[in-house]
Amino acid sequence: MPQTRPAAPVTNPFHIAQAQLDEAARLLDLEPALTALLREPRRELVVHFPVRMDDGATRVLTGFRVQFNTARGPAKGGLRFHPDETIDTVRALAAWMTWKTAVVDVPLGGGKGGVIVDPRKLSRRELERVSRGYIDAVACILGPDEDVPAPDVYTDPQVMAWMVDEFEKLRGSHAPSMITGKPAALGGSAGRGDATARGGVIVAREAGKRFGVKLAGGRVAIQGFGNAGAHMATLARELLGMKVIAVSDTHGTVHDPKGLDVEALLEHKRDSGSVKGFPGAKSIDPEELFALEAELLCPSALENAITPEIAATIRAPLVAELANGPTLPEADRILFEKGVRVLPDILANAGGVTVSYFEWVQNRSGDVWEEDDVHARLDRKLSAAFATVADKAEQRKLPLRTAAYLVAVGRVAEAERLRGRV
Ligand code: NAD
Repeated sequence: MPQTRPAAPVTNPFHIAQAQLDEAARLLDLEPALTALLREPRRELVVHFPVRMDDGATRVLTGFRVQFNTARGPAKGGLRFHPDETIDTVRALAAWMTWKTAVVDVPLGGGKGGVIVDPRKLSRRELERVSRGYIDAVACILGPDEDVPAPDVYTDPQVMAWMVDEFEKLRGSHAPSMITGKPAALGGSAGRGDATARGGVIVAREAGKRFGVKLAGGRVAIQGFGNAGAHMATLARELLGMKVIAVSDTHGTVHDPKGLDVEALLEHKRDSGSVKGFPGAKSIDPEELFALEAELLCPSALENAITPEIAATIRAPLVAELANGPTLPEADRILFEKGVRVLPDILANAGGVTVSYFEWVQNRSGDVWEEDDVHARLDRKLSAAFATVADKAEQRKLPLRTAAYLVAVGRVAEAERLRGRV
C-alpha cells in the first residue's frame, strides 16, 4: 500500500533550527565542513543536582547548559525553568541565540540553559535553592569571557540575583558581568526589563514603514502575557498608538475589539495570576486569537504555536515573533505565500539580548548608562539590523527569516574562517 498520509510536520525545535541553518548554508554556498560545524553545538553540559525541599525531602533535578557557538564572542543566552524542558529545546534556543547576536551584530556567541522543573510549584526558598544548585553545577563552564546567562521563561531578575551571588561565592570575587538581567542594585542595566518587547516595537515600527502597514490606531493581538507579551501590550499602545484587542496566557484568552485597558489587565493578572476572567472582555478559544482581524500579531509564549492550520487563519499583515521558534516551517511557507510578513524571532525579539549586551559592557567597564541612552542605542541597533535584513530580503526575494539567516550565518561563518577553524 502506498503511504498516502502526509508526513507529520517537524516539531522538534532543534531539527527545525538545523533545517533553517541548512537552507541558509545552501543559499550562501558554504563549504560542507563549515556547515557541519555550524549545525551542532560546540559544547553541552547535562547536570543532575540535589535540591532540599521545604518538607526536608531531597529532589534531584536535571539541568542543561549548551554553548552553541563562540566564534564571535562568549556564549550568551537565557535560562529557562520549565517542566517540559528538553536538551533539544535548549540546543535549538542556543542555536537561535547564535544567529540573534550575529544579526544585531554584537560581539557575542550563542548559548542557552534550562532546568526541568515547574517553578510555579516551588516556594520562594525552594526556587532560590534550585537557582543556586544549578549555578553550582554549571559554574565550571560559565564566566564573563566564557558564557553569560540571562532570564528566559519562568526566570526573572531575582533568580539572576541569587545566581550571581552563588557564582561570586564560588569564585571569591565580584563578577557582575557573568550574568545579565540582574536587578539594578546588583548592576542590572536600565531598560532591560522591557527590552525584548521594546525591540519588537522598534522592528514592527520599521516594518510598518517599509511595507506600508499603518500601525498607529491599529490593532494588536498578543499570545502570552509574561515578560515579553505583557510589556508588548504596554509598549504597543504607548509607542505605536495601537489598541490591544486580545491577549492570552496558559489559563485563558480574552478579547475586546474596542481595545483592552492594559493597566487594568496588568492589575487583574497581578491579583488573580491570570488574564482569564478580565471584566468586560470576552473569553475566546486560544486559537481564535490568531485569526482576529488585526494589523499586528505577536506570538509571545513558546515554540510551535503557529501550526499550518493556524497559519491558514491568520489575517494580520505583520507577525512579530517575540517568542523563540513560534512558527512551524510549513506554517512559515503558508504565511509567505499569503503575503504575511513574519518578522523572525532572531530579529524581532533581539531587544533582550541587545540590552543584555549593554549590561555586560557596563559591568565590564564599571559604567552606568541612563535609561534614555539605553533606549536610543537599542533603537539604533535594531533599526539598522531590520534595514540590513529587509534589504537582503528585497534583493534576493526571500522571506525575512531566510534573509535574517543569510546575514547572521554569513557573519558567524566569516568568524569561523578567520579563526582558521575550517
Ligand atoms: P514568561 O515566563 O515571562 O511568560 C510566558 C508567558 O507565556 C506566560 O504568560 C504564560 O502563561 C504564557 N504561555 C505559555 N504557554 C502558553 C500557551 N500555550 N498559550 C498562551 N500563553 C502561554 O516568559 P518570557 O520571558 O515572556 O518568554 C516568552 C517567549 O519570549 C519565550 O519564547 C522566550 O524564549 C522569548 N524571549 C524572551 C526574552 C526575555 O528577555 N524574557 C527574550 C527573547 C525571547
